[in-house]
Amino acid sequence: EGRAARVEVRGKDEIGMLAAAFNAMAERRERLEELRKAMVGDVAHELRTPLSNIRGWLEAAQDGLANPDPELVSSLLEEALLLQHVINDLQDLAVADAGELRLRAEPVDVTDLLAQVATAHRGGAEAAHVTLLTRAEGRPRLVADPVRLRQALGNLVSNAVRHTPPGGTVSLLARRVGDDVVIDVTDTGSGIAPEDLPLVFERFWRVEKSRSRRSGGSGLGLPIARKLAEAHGGSLSASSVVGNGSTFTLRLPVPAHAWDRSEA
Ligand code: ADP
Repeated sequence: EGRAARVEVRGKDEIGMLAAAFNAMAERRERLEELRKAMVGDVAHELRTPLSNIRGWLEAAQDGLANPDPELVSSLLEEALLLQHVINDLQDLAVADAGELRLRAEPVDVTDLLAQVATAHRGGAEAAHVTLLTRAEGRPRLVADPVRLRQALGNLVSNAVRHTPPGGTVSLLARRVGDDVVIDVTDTGSGIAPEDLPLVFERFWRVEKSRSRRSGGSGLGLPIARKLAEAHGGSLSASSVVGNGSTFTLRLPVPAHAWDRSEA
């Protein structure tokens, strides 16, 4: 239990090298175990918070409110939906970690894809007084899983809207760059500090340390979006200027001639 065994390294001969390799493996195993424990703690926290909110609301209802008012009901529903969201996201990540993510690839017209994502987020953007724009240069096309791409882009767009003050803009721009289709999701929001930028792809990591549920996603949106990009053989990266906004860049390879073949 706890620390893995170590062996003594005596020299630079074969036995010595074997011993060093063994120790490196033991250390890696320890690090993974620590990571796993931290993950389980985070998962427990993420599930406990909405659940204890639901419980709190229900207890309040039991104590006083004869007929629960609509506000209470919608709060309960919101927490329940968040709980479901976290559980779905965790499952997606577990499946992706196991290398079991199955893509249903088909020809995808990226212009249409952006329009679908924008339509799905139009209401949320309008409620936040954020302008949502889409633009595609040329008519970029892909062979990809459209459901998974909408999921990845949806996570980026909902983050962008959530972190953009009223009057701001979120834009989706798609274009062909070499053998890739590149989709930028750019916002005029708060931006992310340089030291925080690599961390936003960590599971459950948030800039707002309070983990306020009100501003809340699952804390898994970006790790999932990145996994989905990688499952397509692509990548997801971010750049940001504090006070100016952020750009998340989804890069997806276009398999050679795939579109032509699938149309034939
Ligand atoms: P969630 O949004 O559910 O907290 P994510 O994995 O989607 O989880 O994002 C992780 C964190 O990265 C967010 O909590 C937020 O602090 C930061 N972040 C993500 N997108 C943006 C953005 N467009 N602008 C500013 N901060 C962002």
